[in-house]
Amino acid sequence: MAERIRNFNAGPATLPLPVLEEIRSELKNFRGSGMSILEVSHRSKWFDDVIEDAKARITRLLNLDERYKVLFLQGGASMQFAMVPMNFLSENDHADYVNTGTWSTKAVKEAEIQGKRVNVVASSEDRNFCYIPKNIRPTPGAAFMHITTNNTIKGTQYHFLPDSGGAPLVADMSSDILCRPTDVSRFGLIYAGAQKNLGPAGVTLAVIRQDMLDRVPDTLPTMLKYTTAADKNSMFNTPPCFAIYVVGLVLKWIEETIGGLGAMEARNKKKADTIYGYLDSTDFYNATADPDSRSWMNVTFRLPGEDLEKKFVAEALENGLGGLKGHRSVGGCRASIYNAMDPEGVDELVAFMKEFEKKNG
Ligand SMILES: *Cc1c(COP(=O)(O)O)cnc(C)c1O
Repeated sequence: MAERIRNFNAGPATLPLPVLEEIRSELKNFRGSGMSILEVSHRSKWFDDVIEDAKARITRLLNLDERYKVLFLQGGASMQFAMVPMNFLSENDHADYVNTGTWSTKAVKEAEIQGKRVNVVASSEDRNFCYIPKNIRPTPGAAFMHITTNNTIKGTQYHFLPDSGGAPLVADMSSDILCRPTDVSRFGLIYAGAQKNLGPAGVTLAVIRQDMLDRVPDTLPTMLKYTTAADKNSMFNTPPCFAIYVVGLVLKWIEETIGGLGAMEARNKKKADTIYGYLDSTDFYNATADPDSRSWMNVTFRLPGEDLEKKFVAEALENGLGGLKGHRSVGGCRASIYNAMDPEGVDELVAFMKEFEKKNG
């Protein structure tokens, strides 16, 4: 490839070009330090400014009140699957989980491995996870209700918040965090691996409310307690400095270039309407998710036959449109159109899809 492609990969995923350019421009000598950000101490003034700026931007974008803390953790969203039940489910408690796909299934499994009591209160497994269940009924006294707000592999997304019966919501937002304004007050914990919608791999964002921190038992290993990160400003040990720095630049791009989450929502809605509108206008392509559960972030679709799908993915790449193969567990095609994907990229994809249909339909 001589030029950058339009990158539709699910994660790690495309980053805003202005962010990459900003990284390059200050890489060798970071803000007068005489060192790169890859080389400065995490205890230095330079890194302190970086992490405080990123926290302040998250606080503004999500409208967090003083009960919430912003944490930067390691181990990916997968580590959160284990930490959530470890920190918030005692032996006498139970938790509600909604199973909407591959990642929710893994979250349930990590709780069960620890012998925790889990009620799967709703599931869309009966139709291969192509929808978000509507009649989600909480069980009385649940410690929390866990949901996966966007299902990266199946291409579905919540467009409502379920009734959790007064229990705090705990959400895996790895693939749709900051795609639109969110009412955080319903959530006790939100977590997201950065490599889909926030930045590079290596850091996991967590937004946690004080009442959840109050539940954390003292008996857990230090690195596996949310209170450790909360008390030590995410620096009990060396944090993933470079990843946090890049997340901060992406947040700055959302606030200053895009104009905040309202503008981001309009931009994402327009992209989703463009591609789903086209998918609905033809029988050649078939969107796999139910219309009311369609993801704005991961658009999953099929062509008539696997050979055509292979050809589609290969020819798209020749035309500068990469990463359109579906997840290996489900097949088909998937266009991940996260925050960083420009509307022009989606327009180019739809133009290519029309051409491909003309030649092969
Ligand atoms: C990618 C993904 C994960 C796994 O993230 P890791 O950071 O690789 O552990 C979990 N949940 C969702 C919704 C994802 O998209």
